[in-house]
Amino acid sequence: MDSVASRILKARQYAQERDRRVRVHRIEAELYGEHANHKVAYDDGRWTCDCEESQLRGVCAHIMAMEEILGDTVEPAPLALPQ
Ligand SMILES: [Zn+2]
Repeated sequence: MDSVASRILKARQYAQERDRRVRVHRIEAELYGEHANHKVAYDDGRWTCDCEESQLRGVCAHIMAMEEILGDTVEPAPLALPQ
């Protein structure tokens, strides 16, 4: 097997094992919501979003969606109980 093919296989393996191979430290993303777009950021365990719900509760559907996409490569946002 040539080295390009073996690197592709290795990369695929790392990607499949992302939950134990990858630790995300910082990410900025834009999520296209139903009514507006939102900027979601993650910085060493701290989640932020520019929507009103996250200002009030510290978590929102946009952050939760990014958590689900990134899986165990990030720390979960603290879950706020409904008031
Ligand atoms: Zn939000």
